[in-house]
Amino acid sequence: MEEFNEAANATEAKAAPPMVSVTDLSSFMYCPRALYQKKVLGYEEKLNPAMVLGAIRHNFYDLANKYEERIVVHLPAEFSTEKINAAYSETYQNLLRAVVMNRSKSLEMFGLEPSSIISELRPIAVAEAAERAGNVHSFAAMRNIFGEELWQQLIPKIVTEMKVKSAMLRLKGVVDKVEIYGTTALPIELKTGKMPSDGVWPQHRVQVAAYMMLLQEKFNTTVGKAIIRYLDHNSSRTVVLNPYMELEIKELTEKVIRLLQGSAMPKQCGRENCSCTR
Ligand code: SF4
Repeated sequence: MEEFNEAANATEAKAAPPMVSVTDLSSFMYCPRALYQKKVLGYEEKLNPAMVLGAIRHNFYDLANKYEERIVVHLPAEFSTEKINAAYSETYQNLLRAVVMNRSKSLEMFGLEPSSIISELRPIAVAEAAERAGNVHSFAAMRNIFGEELWQQLIPKIVTEMKVKSAMLRLKGVVDKVEIYGTTALPIELKTGKMPSDGVWPQHRVQVAAYMMLLQEKFNTTVGKAIIRYLDHNSSRTVVLNPYMELEIKELTEKVIRLLQGSAMPKQCGRENCSCTR
């Protein structure tokens, strides 16, 4: 029976259309060779401080999402802006502390002090708390509801780390944050590092365009815009989906699938100051 199941799974895997992750599209744009080495040859990327900090941020946002229901349902019937701000802020700062401490060994490997990372990332926890508190406060005031009822009816619901995939688009991914407004959704990508003087970086545009297409399919609706939040600059930029962008994503997906199914590693491109050692 087990053998039969294994055979069935193998046939299914063979029959399933190849899928690539949305981050592979942006990696391809930067360096097809590095993507090939990672995905086809199995080269592992060496852990670096940016990866550890990125993981901390993602863990924090994931927990912020999971703990929000608890905060909302336990709010008293009459609550002021200060009270709700304080409830969110205290919980979110505690979550950040717990996440950083959980990664303290990795941080120490790079000579980074957990306490200074907590201070550095605190503004992110405070800003997230203020945004969610403001959202809940205005919705509760408008509807005059609280507790479980408030949580059930709350719009927008904010979901972090939302998994999305589509066999038709041959894409899968995890969206950092999605605001759900009834039947439609607004994806938000959280980025660290430099922000362009105008618009968004091309890799970021491609990433959110793919997420918009995936969310359109998931919610069976139109998702016309996405936000990229440049955390280190406390600034947000909007990307509007258009038919050319959708075509670009489909063509790029095709190119990535061809690369990953092929047997030829792309040549070194000769860019200076790059990590091309193999
Ligand atoms: S120099 Fe090497 S790692 Fe850098 S982009 Fe070119 S091929 Fe990729």
